[in-house]
Amino acid sequence: MTLPPHAPIHEPIRRTKIVATLGPASDRPGVLERMIAAGVDVVRLNFSHGSADDHRRRLVEVREIATRLGRSVAALGDLQGPKIRIARFRDGAVELEQGQAFVLDVALDGEAGDAGRVGCDYKALADDVAPGDRLLLDDGRLVVDVTRVAGSEIHTTVVQGGRLSNNKGINKQGGGLSAPALTDKDKADLATAIDIGVDYLAVSFPRSAADMHEARALLGSAGAEIGLVAKLERAEAVADDATLDGIIEASEAVMVARGDLGVEIGDEALIGTQKRIIKHARSHNRAVITATQMMESMIEAPLPTRAEVFDVANAVLDATDAVMLSAETAAGDFPVETIEAMARVCLGAERERIAQESGHRIHEGFSRIDETIALSAMYAANHLAGVAAIACMTATGYTPLIASRIRSGLPIVGLAHNPVAQRRMALYRGVISLPFDTSEMTAGELNDRALERLVAQGIAEPGDHVILTRGDHMNAHGGTNTLKILDVGDDHGAG
Ligand code: PGA
Ligand code: MN
Repeated sequence: MTLPPHAPIHEPIRRTKIVATLGPASDRPGVLERMIAAGVDVVRLNFSHGSADDHRRRLVEVREIATRLGRSVAALGDLQGPKIRIARFRDGAVELEQGQAFVLDVALDGEAGDAGRVGCDYKALADDVAPGDRLLLDDGRLVVDVTRVAGSEIHTTVVQGGRLSNNKGINKQGGGLSAPALTDKDKADLATAIDIGVDYLAVSFPRSAADMHEARALLGSAGAEIGLVAKLERAEAVADDATLDGIIEASEAVMVARGDLGVEIGDEALIGTQKRIIKHARSHNRAVITATQMMESMIEAPLPTRAEVFDVANAVLDATDAVMLSAETAAGDFPVETIEAMARVCLGAERERIAQESGHRIHEGFSRIDETIALSAMYAANHLAGVAAIACMTATGYTPLIASRIRSGLPIVGLAHNPVAQRRMALYRGVISLPFDTSEMTAGELNDRALERLVAQGIAEPGDHVILTRGDHMNAHGGTNTLKILDVGDDHGAG
C-alpha cells in the first residue's frame, strides 16, 4: 500500500518544463519577453532553419531577458541531421493519383520534377531501398510502395495520393536508411552551437549510442558544459531495449521526437513507445522531452483543442520532464497564448494524484552517496507533514536531477553557484533553479542563507520545514553527503 503524498503546503508551482522553438514568430517585437514571462524554461534554436547569426542574436536576447526577469532559461541547439527530402518540381507541386507510377530519381536535376518523377537530395536512397519497401512522403500524408530499383531510379506505385510540393520529407516505414546521424552541415552547426554557448545540443536521427559518442567526441572540451540530447526518431533507435538504453546512457537527455518517429513506426506503436521512452529515461537518471504537434492547432488559433489539452496532460502523467513546442512558437500566430495554455494544462495535470506518487526505485539498491541522499530527501519530504521544499546546494545539478526522478508535489530547489549547472537544471521536472553565490559565505551561515533565498522567492515561510542537502565541501562534484531538516524561522527574512 502506498501512502498518499502530502499535498504541497503552498500554491503549487508548475513542475513540467516548457521547451519553445524560436523563429520569426518569436522575433516579433516584445514577443520573446512575453513568452519567457509566460513560462518558457528552455529555448530551442532549430538549425534546420535560420542562419548562425539568427541563432546568436536570439540567444543573446534570451540571456538578457532571463537575467532581467530573474529566470533560469536553458538554450537547446537542435541539429538538422540527415532529414531526407525530395528535390523540387518545375511547377512547385504536383498531384499524385492513387495507383499511378511515380519515380524517385536520385540522379535527376533538382529542379526538374514533374507528375511522373522527382529528384532526391540523399543519393544513397536507391541503395537503401528494395522492392516491397514503403516510403512515406510529407510526414506520411502520401504513401508509395517500391516496385523496382534500377540504377538511380526508384520505381514506385502510389498507395495514398495527394498534393506533393517541393522539398517534402521522405521516411522509410520501419526504418533502415543508412545515413549517419551527423552530416557535414551538422558538424559546422555543432561548432556554431559551441561558439554561441548553448547549454544542450540535440542530435537528430541517431541510430545507436555510437552516433551520440561521435557527437560527444566532436564537442571535445566544450562537452563538459553542453548536455547532449538524443532525438529518438528512427525505428531502429527504439526497436529493442538494448539500443534504446544505450542511446539514453550516452546522452544527458532524450527527446520523444514524435514527428519522424511516428511516421517510421506508425501512430499505433507510437503510443506505447512514448511511455516506454519516458520510463527508460527516468530509470536511467536522464531527462526526457516530449515533442511535436502538442498544440499544433494553436499555430492558427488562440485556444487548443480538447485533444491537445489531453495530449499535453498525458505526457505530464507519463512523467515527462518537459513538453516542447515547434511551429506553434516559431512560426505561429499565437506564441504567447500557446505558452500560457501549455503552462495551464501542465499545472492542471500535475494536480492529479498519480502525478505526485512514486514507487521509483523502491526495491532497488543505490550505488552512490549523493544519489542515496537525493532519494532519501524525497522519501522524507513526501512523508513528513509541513515540508515546503527540498533545497539542494549543488555544484553540477546532479543531486536535483536524481531527486527529480521521483514524483512529488513538492518543489525541488536547485541552488547553484555555477551558471552552467543552474541553466542545465531548467530542464528538470519539479526543479526550481536558482543562482546561489556562496563565494562570500562562511560554512556556518550557508544553511541560513539558503532558507532566506527560499523565503525571498516565496517558496517557504516561517513555520515550514525545508529539507536541505549539501556536501561538506561546497562546489565539489559529487560531494553531497548531508541531509538536514531545517525549520524556517522569523529571522529568515520573511516580509
Ligand atoms: P524535428 O524533430 O522537429 O526537428 O523534425 C522532432 C520530431 O521529429 O518530432
Ligand atoms: Mn524530426
